[in-house]
Amino acid sequence: VMRESYASEKDSGFKTVKPDLGRIVVIGGAGKLGMLFVRMFRLSGYQVDILEQGDWDNADALFANAGLVVVSVPINLTETIIAKLGCLPKDCVLADITSIKSKPLQAMLNAHQGPVVGLHPMFGPDVGNLAKQVIVCCDGRGKEQYQWLLAQMQIWGARIYHVDAKQHDEAMTLIQALRHFTTFVYGAHLAEENPDIQQLLDLSSPIYRLELAMVGRLFAQDPTLYADIILASDNNVAMIRRYAERFMQAAEMLERNDKDGFIRSFEMVSDWFGDYSTQFLQESRNLLLQANDNRQF
Ligand code: NAD
Repeated sequence: VMRESYASEKDSGFKTVKPDLGRIVVIGGAGKLGMLFVRMFRLSGYQVDILEQGDWDNADALFANAGLVVVSVPINLTETIIAKLGCLPKDCVLADITSIKSKPLQAMLNAHQGPVVGLHPMFGPDVGNLAKQVIVCCDGRGKEQYQWLLAQMQIWGARIYHVDAKQHDEAMTLIQALRHFTTFVYGAHLAEENPDIQQLLDLSSPIYRLELAMVGRLFAQDPTLYADIILASDNNVAMIRRYAERFMQAAEMLERNDKDGFIRSFEMVSDWFGDYSTQFLQESRNLLLQANDNRQF
């Protein structure tokens, strides 16, 4: 019900929280995620300009009337492009939607004396609407001046989660870097082993079908985004290496035929999850039922 009500609200537009804002400039607004934000701002009654690669000659004119500038460019260009923003109006809010937060936030604070906020939408461009989607908010400077923006995104249905930029980046080491990397490696392993993918699907349990879908969907997307997310910090690579070492230790346990060791280790992990493991069992049961009902091929 929630999703449907947001979907229909989207068609008819959203309330404008700050009608006197002036213009919004989205740098990289023709890109995948930028385009989604451009659409949401326009549906909410704002005047939005897109600043793309060839538009920098015109940048000063666009910035002159801007009440909000949003940076949505490839991760590896983000800091350089932010450093180019010399001349924003002093009350203009400068925001970014980069998947990493510490470095872009620092770059924005250096480039602009006015209000600054770091955002990370925890979803991709393929979401139909923003109902219940999480947007991470890392406060930069001049909080009061961008509360309207957070309120606007809440009207879109998004949940704002406040966190310190450094803590965000640490959590993303697990939530994104390690997750995407293990998905990548599993895909690479499948490609090398070269099984008949249709036969795997035909024989699949719902859980394996879901896993295959989660892995396969990565490879329908942009490799540079994932490369940049994984390579964003040395901590990510160190985490991946620790994971690889644990993987090998577990494989060696099997080579020793150490069934007791496997069971002990299993119980140790089970204790660590505590009540969450039964909670996850219930939540995933529904997901798996749905996945099975929605089979398309
Ligand atoms: P994208 O490549 O689709 O879009 C980037 C846009 O920036 C392109 O339109 C490109 O032409 C433009 N651009 C490149 N150089 C430029 C320049 N010098 N000046 C102005 N524009 C320039 O990438 P995307 O997936 O939309 O990602 C954009 C940002 O959103 C990244 O910071 C990424 O971390 C973040 N993000 C993406 C996702 C996702 O799933 N795609 C999710 C969360 C956050």
